[in-house]
Amino acid sequence: MTSQPGRPRRVAVISVHTSPLAQPGTGDAGGMNVYVLQTSLQLARRGVEVEIFTRATSSSDPAVQEAAPGVLVRNIEAGPFEGLDKHDLPTQLCAFAAGVLREEARHAPGYYDLVHSHYWLSGQVGWLARDRWGVPLVHTAHTLAAVKNASLAAGDTPEPAARQIGEQQVVAESDRLVANTVDEAHALESIYRADPAKIDVVAPGADLSRYRPGDRDRARAELGLDPRETIVTFVGRIQPLKAPDVLLRAAARAVADAPDLPLRVLIVGGPSGTGLERPDSLIELAADLGIAARVTFLPPQPSDRLVQVYRASDLVAVPSYSESFGLVAIEAQACGVPVLAANVGGLGVAVRDGETGVLVDGHRTEDWAAALGSLVADRGRRDVLAAAAPRHAENFSWEHTADGLLTAYRTAGARRNRAFGAGEFSLRRQRGLWKLRRTGGVK
Ligand code: UDP
Repeated sequence: MTSQPGRPRRVAVISVHTSPLAQPGTGDAGGMNVYVLQTSLQLARRGVEVEIFTRATSSSDPAVQEAAPGVLVRNIEAGPFEGLDKHDLPTQLCAFAAGVLREEARHAPGYYDLVHSHYWLSGQVGWLARDRWGVPLVHTAHTLAAVKNASLAAGDTPEPAARQIGEQQVVAESDRLVANTVDEAHALESIYRADPAKIDVVAPGADLSRYRPGDRDRARAELGLDPRETIVTFVGRIQPLKAPDVLLRAAARAVADAPDLPLRVLIVGGPSGTGLERPDSLIELAADLGIAARVTFLPPQPSDRLVQVYRASDLVAVPSYSESFGLVAIEAQACGVPVLAANVGGLGVAVRDGETGVLVDGHRTEDWAAALGSLVADRGRRDVLAAAAPRHAENFSWEHTADGLLTAYRTAGARRNRAFGAGEFSLRRQRGLWKLRRTGGVK
């Protein structure tokens, strides 16, 4: 593969708190894991080698794993394998950063051309690595504490002020920031005082070769679901922010208003975070609401099974209180399933209101019950939305996302070369570490 001007040969991707190889849909694994893995696969296909650094969470994690040709996952030992809460991870950032720097020091200088960090914890490590290696830092926040805290679910724990301080530092230090949506770019500018000139808006995607429309009855037969019912599905981590309880309450109200509604709620995912972390809490809620017989629970599904879950569904609900994008909404539409979503964050981009789904303002049970009840009762309307959904989803592919990242990488490289004055610095090894040393003035 020939190198192309401005395109990095090898990128160090930092994902401290969760491995791209973890099963998404439970614990700390979700859309970010899918994003990191899928964009890395696409970059590797374009000839960019990717090495993903993540924290080892099991003694059986090998030091290095090949996810695919051109994509390595390096499991860095930093703190105990198990039992370390995400909120305690800042205590291990030094150990993690040391592991990353030691790995790089085993290679010739200039081994990595660029660092791309995901989530603020990784940004803290990426910032240090960037300074040691003299390469650009590109950062994707995925979620921002200030945005999340502005729309918490009742009883949910706010993100600590220390996180926002940490995010602020990473925003200031990054050479480029990748935002999922224009709204996120605005939040970076207005709340985190990011320089607008260093933000690239790059939409995430879906694996459109996997998520395609398919036979609904076959999917239902495979999953043991009744072909006569109207199935409304929630897919994701079971936590207050994702609001599966909003869907259950709406379903209970809709069924109370119209007892003959052939409605079934399918909840796919595992416990995560605070509040709804007990796997049984939603089962108890369904029982309290009197709809236990109409709710089916499935554990987190790998993507080859998840595609059948979408195909088996008549509607996918994404009732989140905050959502930086909402990959589930794109995946569902790619499978020809309309989406009923909260009008928050990236969901306003992921779903075309009235064309491929319906957006609901707020989380009041009566509003959600009205929207849900009318869609469940109106198959004709669902069919119209379903027909338009895959075309909209085609705008969101991982190929497209990788193109956007490469543009961000090129700009980051060019700006950094300008800032340093190209050719005016050299790398020297000092005490086992490579250090950037300026050998001429800044132009
Ligand atoms: N997911 C999965 N299996 C499951 C549940 C979810 O593979 O059982 C994946 C899903 O396909 C999607 C991701 O987890 O790609 C969730 O991403 P989303 O952006 O919807 O939510 P996040 O986890 O980022 O909050």
